[in-house]
Amino acid sequence: MARYTGPVCKLCRRERTKLFLKGTRCESPKCPIEKGRPPPGEHGRGRVRESEYLVQLREKQKAKRFYGVLEKQFRSYYEEASRSKGVTGEELMRICESRLDNVVYRSGLAMNRPMARQLVSHGHFEVNGHRVDVPSYRVKAGDRITVRERSRSLGRIVENASYAESRTIPEWLSVDLKDLSVEVLALPERNQIDAPVQEQLIVEYYSK
Ligand code: SF4
Repeated sequence: MARYTGPVCKLCRRERTKLFLKGTRCESPKCPIEKGRPPPGEHGRGRVRESEYLVQLREKQKAKRFYGVLEKQFRSYYEEASRSKGVTGEELMRICESRLDNVVYRSGLAMNRPMARQLVSHGHFEVNGHRVDVPSYRVKAGDRITVRERSRSLGRIVENASYAESRTIPEWLSVDLKDLSVEVLALPERNQIDAPVQEQLIVEYYSK
């Protein structure tokens, strides 16, 4: 399945929630969700009878869109989470949060996850001193992520870093904006993950 390249606000309207796929616009009154725009499509304004299945499906779609993950990979995350000793839903969220593109976004070095994904895939970051250009790379506690020396003066990185000062950085990350580096103190607990997702519904969807 190809990656979605259409208007991203439409995805938020579809899920009736903010997925924060743009930058500062997501925090402004211009955000279509803030304006109360209905879901896209001819049935968007009407009332849809939501079956249990539909509710679970929508929650899964929302999580995939929030993290920018395609179905095959998201399902493999679920399968990995279900094999783990922890609570499946919480493990699933932890796996999504530990993606390198998500960590770059959470640390404030990108305005949104699509931008973080692009910056990583263009090879602007190193993990523990080694260049990593795979957005789905999973970080571990103790990892140190840095902007590569030759990318430090890149306009977008400098701009993002200055905007990052106003962002709330999750407590499981330690960010040094002067050094353009991030340390993963620990992988997050569920209550440290700010994602508008009810993961239990996703577990119910996949475990049918
Ligand atoms: Fe668009 Fe951001 Fe609002 Fe989503 S949260 S509708 S991406 S402006």
